[in-house]
Amino acid sequence: MLDIRQIPVLSDNYVYLIRDQESGLVGVVDPAVPEPVLAEADRLGWTVTHIFNTHHHGDHVGGNRRIKAETGCTIVGPRADQDRIPGIDVALGDGETYDFGGSQALVFDVPGHTRGHIAFWFAESDALFCGDTIFALGCGRMFEGDPQQFWTSLSKLRALPDTAQVYCAHEYTQANARFALSVDGANADLVRRAAEIDAVRAEGKPTVPSRLGDEKATNPFLRADDPVLAGNVGLAGADPIAVFAEIRARKDNF
Ligand code: ZN
Ligand code: FE
Repeated sequence: MLDIRQIPVLSDNYVYLIRDQESGLVGVVDPAVPEPVLAEADRLGWTVTHIFNTHHHGDHVGGNRRIKAETGCTIVGPRADQDRIPGIDVALGDGETYDFGGSQALVFDVPGHTRGHIAFWFAESDALFCGDTIFALGCGRMFEGDPQQFWTSLSKLRALPDTAQVYCAHEYTQANARFALSVDGANADLVRRAAEIDAVRAEGKPTVPSRLGDEKATNPFLRADDPVLAGNVGLAGADPIAVFAEIRARKDNF
């Protein structure tokens, strides 16, 4: 089992410190920057042994070199993008597992945001670290993938249990909720969740992690095969890939 700590950095990034209870190994998921991560680990009395990178963007690997220099940690990241991950030691791809002390991470290739994006699924801890693939009520921008790839990636993650906690890398939820309501406004679960999100943000609290079951019910990017949503965007009866493409394009211009 993992102990998980969330560190807000930059304007809206979340970095995670994860500690395997059995072995005491400590990982950093997507260190955007080094200093606050090292400071928080120090405060907790945790020694960083690993970095887990989901993809190559600077706000996910920016702390790699410095944290590795200070701790000698092992950097784990996507094989499909290993040339773009600073200091990578262990490259992983779809279906492979990584033993992190007593915890095991199952890796999914989830291209779409970038071509080499991966997600880490710690089943015993019900924890999904998905970087910029799924956001609470959203998904990452489609920088390097196409709609078919991205929809396939989201469908893979959607197949995980409802109880999974989605540890995404950004606090974009309130803006995502406004967009989601524009395409799925009659979804009562979404209306209720959007109001909850406003209340949580009004208190200055994080909306992340979220529960995957709630994402399945309210995140439009996980619902491109829902007939009502397809109809709402003028694509009744269309292929989910076409519906996903339309929703993603609308979000880009929202
Ligand atoms: Zn990114
Ligand atoms: Fe990012």
